[in-house]
Amino acid sequence: MNKEEELSDEIARLKQEIERLKAENEGLGHGMEKKKAVVAGDMTDRGIFETEIKKIDMANGFDREEVKVTNYFSVKGHQLRMGQVLRCSFCSIILTAQEKIESNNKVYCEKCYRQEEHDMSKDEYKIMLCASHGFTSTSLLLESLGCAVTIQRLTGLTKNEAAKKLERLLDEGYLFQHGILFKKIRVSSKGEEAMVAYGQVYRDEDCDVVRSRLSSIRVSP
Ligand SMILES: [Zn+2]
Repeated sequence: MNKEEELSDEIARLKQEIERLKAENEGLGHGMEKKKAVVAGDMTDRGIFETEIKKIDMANGFDREEVKVTNYFSVKGHQLRMGQVLRCSFCSIILTAQEKIESNNKVYCEKCYRQEEHDMSKDEYKIMLCASHGFTSTSLLLESLGCAVTIQRLTGLTKNEAAKKLERLLDEGYLFQHGILFKKIRVSSKGEEAMVAYGQVYRDEDCDVVRSRLSSIRVSP
């Protein structure tokens, strides 16, 4: 082989090598298969946002598998976004902005807020909404006389349920009675604090229904 032949051989070899590298890069040819998948991640209470797995299986030529796991979810099912997650100050669980309860300059998960601060059911919260608008009557008689709009009408609770929950809210100090002769029920400062916190929890449509009923009544008793 003369010098010229040697050179053209080398050029041909290099051309082949370039083609092979190109193919490898694009994941084509030379028996190489490239699989790429982007899948939704699991629910997590850890701060994971994305995982990338690249697998090259040399035994089967150039098989390459790329799995990118994105979109991890909080335990409540909301997508975690980088820079937008918080941790509960008490149990350290990962929370999204819509799941957190912020109160007294602290961040709580719902469970810890119930344990550490105030525990209020959704129905009780609805009664608090009524009370904050001046509606605290459960009397069907007063309602039939046009003197009151009852909690039952505003919340859909039965009279018995409404009365029982009203009693607990009074006992726990979320509401208090004001006045001597004609006692009026008012929201206490403890009640206000709990309402602000639970306003971040109970965003369901049925609470909105109560809110819109309250705002549609023009004259409060
Ligand atoms: Zn917590």
